[in-house]
Amino acid sequence: MLYCFMLITHAKTIDWKEGLLTQPLSKETCEQQFQMCKCVAEKENYCFPEYSAQIAPISEELKTKMMGKSFHENCPVPVEDLSTIQLQYWNPEGEIYWGHITVASVQADNVAKIFGELYYEQFPITSMKLIYEFKGSDDASMRANNTSGFNCRPIKNTSRWSHHSYGQAIDINPLWNPWVRGNTVDPPEGKEFADRSNLQPGMIKAGDATVQAFEKYGWKWGGYWKKTKDYQHFSATGR
Ligand SMILES: [Zn+2]
Repeated sequence: MLYCFMLITHAKTIDWKEGLLTQPLSKETCEQQFQMCKCVAEKENYCFPEYSAQIAPISEELKTKMMGKSFHENCPVPVEDLSTIQLQYWNPEGEIYWGHITVASVQADNVAKIFGELYYEQFPITSMKLIYEFKGSDDASMRANNTSGFNCRPIKNTSRWSHHSYGQAIDINPLWNPWVRGNTVDPPEGKEFADRSNLQPGMIKAGDATVQAFEKYGWKWGGYWKKTKDYQHFSATGR
């Protein structure tokens, strides 16, 4: 990885920003707009802001939005044990966007740093919105290739809580990195990506920079599971 600087701050509330942050800029323009810039030596006029992430508890406003969608009264962890992170990521078009993810507060620093590592790898992420925006539907979020963390829901076709319900799991580009068991692919729209012999940027493979970034902070990849391959899934628990 390139030498990197990660500005990770904790706040009571997030100064909420969405959408495009910037495209790569000339050094001069970048330094006018941002406190700290990083330039890629091999590319002309290719400077971008150093990584920053803000971590905050779930606000009352956000809690209201989550209720009945990604959060329910009977969830295994209270909303007070969760944090939302606002962070920078690269999209597949080579632009920098603001993204949001909710995880267990005890994992928030690790997760902010993991996405910092992905940022300096310029790992492409297509969407990073909180799951309530998909009405808590994992299917809808997966179809949209949306990267997400906390979602209070059972493991599909079971009555057991998914590790996403504890904020201890993250799914990365789920359309491009589907869940596969035999001939079953989830999301079904990601069928073409079940073939892992032709990997494109944004797809995850054993030992790559994305897997390494998660492992550095103790998180494990679902692509290493034996019967089922959950290529999108990383968790702090290994499950
Ligand atoms: Zn998952």
